[in-house]
Amino acid sequence: MFCPKCGTQVPENNRFCPNCGEPVATAPVVAENDHTEMFDPEDIKRTKILAALCYVSVLFVIVGLLLEPNSKFIRYHINQSFCLYVFALLCGLVAIVPFLGWIASAVGAIAVFVFTVMGVIRAYKGTARDLPLVGKYTIVYYD
Ligand SMILES: [Zn+2]
Repeated sequence: MFCPKCGTQVPENNRFCPNCGEPVATAPVVAENDHTEMFDPEDIKRTKILAALCYVSVLFVIVGLLLEPNSKFIRYHINQSFCLYVFALLCGLVAIVPFLGWIASAVGAIAVFVFTVMGVIRAYKGTARDLPLVGKYTIVYYD
């Protein structure tokens, strides 16, 4: 990166040029699991509330697909919520194993709850960040 005023090379994380003090615009740090950039801002604006509701009930997934069949943003969050459903299902399944399974299942249930809240908040804020653990899988294609 170079200073726009004097051309001095500016170290990566500096906000000001070390030579002339000119403020240097730095690109915002984007997390590796953040895919917000690939979605149309208009799409996000229009569909973010529906996308957030997809985490709450599969009913809204159907509504979302019917109302916004071309929205990539909704499909992204539907995929995230489906990954979460599968994870929740697995957490329920391990409960058939006594003791250790029950503990794993209880911990999993807490994780499902936390991930659901995270998904709702991220969708509502208009961002597309993969959920921890479960969000990197693709069940529903969105691109
Ligand atoms: Zn400078």
